[in-house]
Amino acid sequence: MNPKSPYCLECRDDIQGRSDKKFCSDSCRIAFHNRKRIESVQPVRSVNLILNRNRSILLDFLGNKKNHAVLNHSQLALRGFDFAFTTHQTKDAFGNTVSYCYEVGYLMLNTAKVRVVRNAV
Ligand SMILES: [Zn+2]
Repeated sequence: MNPKSPYCLECRDDIQGRSDKKFCSDSCRIAFHNRKRIESVQPVRSVNLILNRNRSILLDFLGNKKNHAVLNHSQLALRGFDFAFTTHQTKDAFGNTVSYCYEVGYLMLNTAKVRVVRNAV
């Protein structure tokens, strides 16, 4: 056996043949690249799940017809709203920061009350 023989990047078996090969087989090469692709998109998926859950929670409070609603901050928290995750922020006409999850957002009216707003994107 050639002591310089590299190991397969996927299964760690010895690689036979050309010294520049990185994988022992096509299945290992495909498995390696599939795993890398999944690893690269997982952080994006995790954040998108939180953003989508936040959006759904805000939309639930608005229903189909309302464009704004006032509720207690705790109502969002109890539903699992994660205040650390929003898509963007804007200022309303009074200079208050509105934090959005896509087309629906919220602004703090005081320490207890929150206004949920729907906005065309
Ligand atoms: Zn392999």
